[in-house]
Amino acid sequence: MMSDSDRGAILIICTGGTITMSVDPGTGALAPFRFDQMNQQIPEIKKFSFRIDTIQFSPLLDSSEVGPSDWIRMAQTIYDAYDRYDGFVVLHGTDTMAYSASALSFMLQNLNKPVIFTGSQLPIGMVRTDGKENLITAIEIAACKDGAMPMVPEVCIFFENTLWRGNRTTKKNAELFNAFGSYNYPALATAGVHIRYNRSVIHHEEEDTPLILHKLIDTNIAVLKLFPGITENYVKAVFSTPGLRAVIMESFGAGNAPSHNWLIRELRAAADKNIIIVNVTQCNTGSVEMGRYKTSIHLLDSGVMSGYDITTESAVTKLMILLGHNQDPDIIKQKMNCSFCGEITVNDASIF
Ligand code: ASP
Repeated sequence: MMSDSDRGAILIICTGGTITMSVDPGTGALAPFRFDQMNQQIPEIKKFSFRIDTIQFSPLLDSSEVGPSDWIRMAQTIYDAYDRYDGFVVLHGTDTMAYSASALSFMLQNLNKPVIFTGSQLPIGMVRTDGKENLITAIEIAACKDGAMPMVPEVCIFFENTLWRGNRTTKKNAELFNAFGSYNYPALATAGVHIRYNRSVIHHEEEDTPLILHKLIDTNIAVLKLFPGITENYVKAVFSTPGLRAVIMESFGAGNAPSHNWLIRELRAAADKNIIIVNVTQCNTGSVEMGRYKTSIHLLDSGVMSGYDITTESAVTKLMILLGHNQDPDIIKQKMNCSFCGEITVNDASIF
């Protein structure tokens, strides 16, 4: 007879967000849901043949409050429990889920088990909630095996009916149930009557390489979104932020920016002070291609580097982690242009 441990086990890490809310029977108000009472709220969970344990953050967090210390807590929880579970489901608010999923993908080096983030647009205790479907399918994906190996050994986001690579996602919708998009990378799976995995696009680390946890994070970065009419004073203020080590510049189209002399001067001066400037596009789809238009040649000349097709969420978290572990800006620049776990469409390499 099979014991519970033979069947495997999944750990649900409940951090907060709308999915953790239910209607309080006394007051009728939305209140955090006790995950130790999960079986009462979602009796379907009992039908899984494997063990499901839960850990709940206290207090539960609206994801707008989530930051690097919470990423460390999530990553440490997974690291500490890694050998005891086949996969992990992280319940998280949708607002910053793409940042947390991106951060964990870089913090958990050599990951070879599924870490599936999910949440919901409507609280789990409401009749029309999307949370139950999301949670149940996320658990199924976290437990899914391809032979003896985990089917999706990546940090992912599962939402509505699609599984995305976490570090390729962006929150795109505050209203509809399909809250996330991944514009530069295809879906890893779609869930309808069957869960269909797109095996050829799933990232696999080398087998038997121990998990390494990276916890050093330096938040001395800025995101500078360009817009027509942007002023010198505004750009100067960003670049004179005390302690600043890197700027993600969200530019137009394929990486273009106005050719004002003052902008070129500011960029050059920042680059000379070893501030890393990464050019990412404001477009959802496509890649930065500096030099394609005259309006980006001056950026190259000013020491700005290309972020290619990376999302802002991934660029922010990857830079914070790289800055936390490295002092030399040249090494960080090199690593920004390598793919650590599929976050950017360039050649694979290790960032650490
Ligand atoms: N504000 C909530 C959060 O991100 C929204 C949600 O969960 O969808 O925590």
